[in-house]
Amino acid sequence: MVVEKVKRFLKVIEDKNPKLNAILHVFRDDAIKQAEAVEQKINEGNAGRLAGYVFTIKNNIAIKGKPLTAASKALEHYISPYDAAVIEKLRKEDAVIVGTANMDEFATGSDSTTSAFGPVKNAIDDAYVAGGSSGGSASSVKAGMADASLGSDTGGSIRCPATFNGVVGFKPSYGRVSRYGLADMAMSLDQIGPITNTVEDAKRIYDVINGKDERDVTTHEFPTMPNKSNVKVAVLKEIVDGSDELVRELFFKALDKASVEYELVSVPEAKDVVAIYYLNMFAEFSSAMQKYDGVRYGANNAMDEASNYFELAKVFRGEHFGREVKRRILLGTFITMKEFKDAWYMKALKARAQLKGRVAKVFDEYDILLTPTMPVFPWKIGEKQQDPVQMYTADIATAIANLTGIPAGTVPFYDGEKFPVGVQVLSAYGSDDAVLDYMARLESSF
Ligand code: GLN
Repeated sequence: MVVEKVKRFLKVIEDKNPKLNAILHVFRDDAIKQAEAVEQKINEGNAGRLAGYVFTIKNNIAIKGKPLTAASKALEHYISPYDAAVIEKLRKEDAVIVGTANMDEFATGSDSTTSAFGPVKNAIDDAYVAGGSSGGSASSVKAGMADASLGSDTGGSIRCPATFNGVVGFKPSYGRVSRYGLADMAMSLDQIGPITNTVEDAKRIYDVINGKDERDVTTHEFPTMPNKSNVKVAVLKEIVDGSDELVRELFFKALDKASVEYELVSVPEAKDVVAIYYLNMFAEFSSAMQKYDGVRYGANNAMDEASNYFELAKVFRGEHFGREVKRRILLGTFITMKEFKDAWYMKALKARAQLKGRVAKVFDEYDILLTPTMPVFPWKIGEKQQDPVQMYTADIATAIANLTGIPAGTVPFYDGEKFPVGVQVLSAYGSDDAVLDYMARLESSF
C-alpha cells in the first residue's frame, strides 16, 4: 500500500518535475525501501503517527547522507552528516521522504527564482512564480508529488508559497520547533513548519515536530492554553488597506462565506513591517553567512586561487553566491557597522520591540487576528526580478508573525479566479492550537 503510493508519487515527480523544478534530489530507492519498512510495521500493528505520509523536504533542512544545498552553488557538494531534529521526528513516526524541495538561495526571496538551480514554477500555472522561499515545497504538494512538505519561514516563506499554490501552510510560534539542522537565515525569525493539502495534515505534522530540544536553546515547554469556544476575531486594517483591490475583495468574501464576525483593529506600526523585517533580517543574515567562507561546507576550487584567508573568502563568495544573497550580506554588514548601527540596526531592534508590544495588546482583547496572507497574486516568472524592493513589500502581512514570534497559518479561498487568496490566521504567542483550530473552521466553510 505505502510502496504503491510512493511509486505513484515518484511517477508524478518524473512526469511533472522537469517543468516545475520543484524537487532538487529524488530519493527513489531510499523512498521505496523506507516504504517497505513502514508497510511491514503497519502490518505488525506498530506503525507511527505519520506512517504512510510521504514528504518532500526544503533543501535547507539536514537529511543525513543527502545533499543540503540551500539552493546555492556555495553548498552544491555539501552532504549532511546528520539528521535535523525535525527529520529524526518524522522518521520516528514512520514518514517517508521522497526528495528535497527547491527554494530561494539560502531562503532569500518571495518567489523561488533566486535558486542557483533554476526557478520553481507554480503548480497551478507554470508561467507564474511558486512563491518563496519554500516554493518547491508548496509546488510539490500541489502537484501531487508528495502528501506534505516541511518548509522554513523567516518572513513568510511557508505561507507565501502555500498561498500562491493554493495549499495550507503553518508557521508555529518561535521556540516550538527545533531549528537544529536548519541552515539558518536569520536566527531570531526562523521557524520550521508544514505545507499540506489540508489543515488536518498540518496539525498532525505539527503535533509530531514540536517540542523542546536541548540542541536548540530557543525551544521550550509551553503552558497549555485554555480551549475557548467563543473566539473574538479582529481584522488588521493596515494590511487590508495595503492589499490589492481584488485580494481585499476576495478576502472579505471569504470571511462572509465563513460567517466570520469581526472588528477592524489598527496597529499603526504594521505599515512599517517591511522595513522593520528587512533591517532585522539583513543584520542576522549577514552574520549567518559568515560561516560560508570556502574553508568548510563542501568542496570548492577557491583554495587553489587564493593566497590568504581573506582572498579565499572573497573568491569563494564572489563565485558562489547569487545577487540577492550578496545584496543582503552587504546591506546587513553596512547597517551593523560601528558608525551606522545606531542609525539603522539599533532603531530596527527598537521598532521590532514596539511592534511586538502593540501586537500583544491586540491579543489582550481578541483571540484571533485575520489578514490576507499575501497582498498580491502570484506574478509571472521574471516580472519582479529587477526590482527587489517591490518584491520585499509582498512580505508585509507575513513578517509580522516572525518579528513577534506568534503562530500563523494560511488557508486558501477560491472564488472562480485562477489563484486563490490566502486567509492568514494569527493568534497570541503559544496559541498554536487556537490558530490550527480556526484554520480548520475556515477550511470547512470555504
Ligand atoms: N520573502 C522573505 C525574504 O525574502 C521571506 C524569506 C523567508 O521567510 N525565508 O526575506
